[in-house]
Amino acid sequence: MIDRLGRPLRDLRVSVTDRCNFRCTYCMPREVFGRDFAFLPRADLLTFEEIARLVQAFVAEGVEKIRLTGGEPLVRANLERLVAMLAALPGVQDLTLTTNGSLLAAKADTLRAAGLRRVTVSLDSLDDAVFARMNDVGFPVAAVLEGIEAAAAAGLGPIKVNMVVRRGLNEQSVLPMARHFRERGQILRFIEYMDVGHSNGWRLEEVVPAEELLAAIDAELPLVALPPNYPGEVADRWRYRDGDGEVGVIASVTRPFCGDCTRARVTAEGQLFTCLFGVRGHDLRTSLRDGTTDAALRERIRSVWSVRSDRYSELRSAATSALERVEMSHIGG
Ligand code: SAM
Ligand code: SF4
Ligand code: SF4
Repeated sequence: MIDRLGRPLRDLRVSVTDRCNFRCTYCMPREVFGRDFAFLPRADLLTFEEIARLVQAFVAEGVEKIRLTGGEPLVRANLERLVAMLAALPGVQDLTLTTNGSLLAAKADTLRAAGLRRVTVSLDSLDDAVFARMNDVGFPVAAVLEGIEAAAAAGLGPIKVNMVVRRGLNEQSVLPMARHFRERGQILRFIEYMDVGHSNGWRLEEVVPAEELLAAIDAELPLVALPPNYPGEVADRWRYRDGDGEVGVIASVTRPFCGDCTRARVTAEGQLFTCLFGVRGHDLRTSLRDGTTDAALRERIRSVWSVRSDRYSELRSAATSALERVEMSHIGG
């Protein structure tokens, strides 16, 4: 099954909650996501059984990779039960999770035992003051590093670490992060700060282009380009010239990759989005709750994907930036 631009459906990101224990300023700024913010009520969230049924339908339509995300996925109670249900589905070739790492030290072993294959951990600095300013809840770096080590020890590796770089905030952290993760054989990926949602007040001047980041690293630790692991990989990969270690850049602002975008996203309340910058989702929860058959559910997915023509990042402009958009914490990145 392909969309209007010839792109097959291969990956699915499932958000399991819109809540988070961090308030990263680029994602859930506390002025917006404060005490009075109306998070989804429990009854609106898809149950684990509903998620598993949906994932099965997506797998039948060609999805091979599943990533659980949020909000913070590990704040959803008993997530390991969902992991076990998804790991048991035939056709799921890769099952991973993106987390802020805060609860990983406690949960890595159970997640691995439930069948999780790998994790991606987000960490924006090794400097406590910088990190606290970015997560805005004063969360210490050491606790995230502990989570990463626990995940590695549990066999959830190789661990990928995502670092969002925002000009004026954490550029100084780029080289220390590169050195640290290189020494541990963990893959660091720099993510250009994106204009997802509206609440972060994104400005182009705050984006540090991947080119600039790579040049800064290359000056200290020379890099050699690596070929993609598979067609459509979103990260451009590099290895260090003098030995082991890999870094990547996800340059969605300066080098958009919409042409290879094979990814669907489902929010915690069962809205299907065909683009990270989608204006509105397609409700799948009703179909999951009104007796719709599996065949009809698959037909619904096909009917959305086959007419998809999204390429927001390639078209990014003042006009598109002004459009209404879903928040990152809602869609899961
Ligand atoms: N809470 C988990 C975490 O932080 O890893 C999973 C959800 S989070 C929305 C997924 C990823 O999106 C994280 O790596 C985060 O750094 C990234 N992200 C959030 N807002 C972003 C933005 N405005 N630009 C680029 N990346 C962003
Ligand atoms: Fe939470 Fe992840 Fe968003 Fe940070 S990036 S606020 S950890 S959902
Ligand atoms: Fe895919 Fe939309 Fe991102 Fe382009 S902007 S790569 S279509 S999610």
